[in-house]
Amino acid sequence: MQVPAQFEYQKASSVQHAIALLTRHGPESRLVAGGHSLIPMMKLRLAQPEMLIDINDLTELSHIRLDGAELRIGAMARHAELLASPVVAEHLSIFIDAERVIADPIVRNRGTVGGSLCQSDPSEDLSAAFAAVRANAVIVGQDGARTVPIREFHTGPYETVVGDAEVLTELRVPIRPGGGSCYLKVERRVGDWPVAASGAAIWLDQDTITEVGIGLTAVGAAHFVAEEAEQYLVGRPAADEHFVEAGRLAAEHCRPASDQRGPAEYKRHLAGELTTRALRRAAARALGQEV
Ligand SMILES: Cc1cc2nc3c(=O)[nH]c(=O)nc-3n(C[C@H](O)[C@H](O)[C@H](O)COP(=O)(O)OP(=O)(O)OC[C@H]3O[C@@H](n4cnc5c(N)ncnc54)[C@H](O)[C@@H]3O)c2cc1C
Repeated sequence: MQVPAQFEYQKASSVQHAIALLTRHGPESRLVAGGHSLIPMMKLRLAQPEMLIDINDLTELSHIRLDGAELRIGAMARHAELLASPVVAEHLSIFIDAERVIADPIVRNRGTVGGSLCQSDPSEDLSAAFAAVRANAVIVGQDGARTVPIREFHTGPYETVVGDAEVLTELRVPIRPGGGSCYLKVERRVGDWPVAASGAAIWLDQDTITEVGIGLTAVGAAHFVAEEAEQYLVGRPAADEHFVEAGRLAAEHCRPASDQRGPAEYKRHLAGELTTRALRRAAARALGQEV
């Protein structure tokens, strides 16, 4: 049986308390949220924090609510809560699509939005979904709060801009009329990590695409984004031929790696096809033709 190295443990009672503990114990301390990524890594000795700071009592980070033209999602919102949220279902189908295919109910009941984003695993589904909708991340440290566009949040595999003594507290997603979104994933078996996945969010004025976001998972896209495909689509009609071309561009510009989930060329093909299909469905949803 794999067991973690010895560590100390303390519960944080507030965000400020968590920051104070992180500051006091230094870079060898780590926050634990759902623990579904960190604890397995500790068991494998890929992570050996000397101090675990538990943030599960911070219910002030569990909200999912509309605030003016923004959907605010607390970092401690669980996958299952995002999946069950009526306000998310009404405005951002992309998260419902993604959450349906993230792991299994046991992981979804415990794993958090903040933990998923901070883990920065290249296969993390929510990273691409938040990139597609151009969310902003709120990060709090000793000097106060700062807001970072999610497209600047991930700096590489397992790396983010969150500092050693900082806490990701909230994701803010702009809500605008005239939009639709969708997330599609291919997995080897139910509940598995993606072989590849693509999420699209699209805004239309009549038939014209005014804004679009495309997020790619597990195919080596920088910041999880298919930027060339996005640039191609803006200003064009929401027509199938353009969605096919956007898929081709997404496939051309991503950098998948061959691994146990499949060869790079298969993943590239999936990135293109899933992008085309996600755009189609997102546009149909924007037009009220599909739920
Ligand atoms: C069997 C299994 C299958 C899975 N399948 C999928 C899948 O298909 N798709 C998918 O996307 N994910 C999948 N996951 C991962 C799952 O989504 C986890 O919930 C997620 O990776 C981490 O969330 P967590 O709350 O458990 O984070 P934790 O493990 O608690 O923390 C992860 C990291 O984030 C840091 N952290 C956590 N919260 C904060 C915060 N608020 N501020 C700053 N740093 C923070 C921690 O210090 C740690 O470094 C799977 C996990 C398992 C165990």
